[in-house]
Amino acid sequence: MIFPHGIALSLPPIRHCPICGIATQASRSRESHRDFDTFACLSCDTTIVESRPQPPAKGFGNL
Ligand SMILES: [Zn+2]
Repeated sequence: MIFPHGIALSLPPIRHCPICGIATQASRSRESHRDFDTFACLSCDTTIVESRPQPPAKGFGNL
């Protein structure tokens, strides 16, 4: 059986709120982003935004 590429990324990472410690709700800051980078706590309204440096797109247009 062949799995489609990226199926392992379909589950959002579980991040816990640093304030109250419950699991936060993961979401994407941008629809185009594959990775979840925004984690919102539904209990205390704390929002954790992870901003990881994006690698420069190289070879773009050389497909
Ligand atoms: Zn919280």
